[in-house]
Amino acid sequence: MNLILFGPPAAGKGTQAKRLVTDHGMVQLSTGDMLRAARSSGSELGLRVAAIMDGGQLVSDDIVIALIEERLPEAEAAGGAIFDGFPRTLAQAKALDDMLASRGAKIDLVIQLKVDDAALIERMGIRFALEGRADDKPDVFVTRLAAYNEQTAPLLPYYQAQGKLVEVNGMEALENVAVAVDAALAAS
Ligand code: AMP
Repeated sequence: MNLILFGPPAAGKGTQAKRLVTDHGMVQLSTGDMLRAARSSGSELGLRVAAIMDGGQLVSDDIVIALIEERLPEAEAAGGAIFDGFPRTLAQAKALDDMLASRGAKIDLVIQLKVDDAALIERMGIRFALEGRADDKPDVFVTRLAAYNEQTAPLLPYYQAQGKLVEVNGMEALENVAVAVDAALAAS
């Protein structure tokens, strides 16, 4: 099972992905986590992406596609991946389809966590106060939200046309979101 958890920043993708890893033994592939790890390791890649991330912009397709490709064998061995924060552009979505097809696999399900902008901004304000992540700063978060609306949300029709898209109300309490996600997985 290859699943994409889709939605704007702070929709709860990471939280649900981590829960699914624990409950279903799948592998979580979060490009955001991979990029943050590159930054903390001080690698050349980390240095290259730091300013882009801190500004709330998307890093280039080539970089994130390569990061995902590197991890596909591990995901395959685990019986599937949860893609979290990837793909974010149509080029990434098409590259993912091609990479999976060349391994005889495909995306099985795309779960869209729907949360309205006002709730996202409120959640982010709380996370910024707690964790102080540079790209959660209110003005940067607005840029991240705009990047989602302009570059990532247009992927929804792409997956809808393939009959893979299921909507889940991400405004609900965490446990209810978990139940809805599990139901979508069970039905696919
Ligand atoms: P996230 O934790 O998924 O919100 O990602 C944090 C930041 O990493 C984003 O704001 C982007 O700058 C970068 N990033 C993560 N995933 C991607 C992606 N698939 N494409 C482009 N940039 C990404």
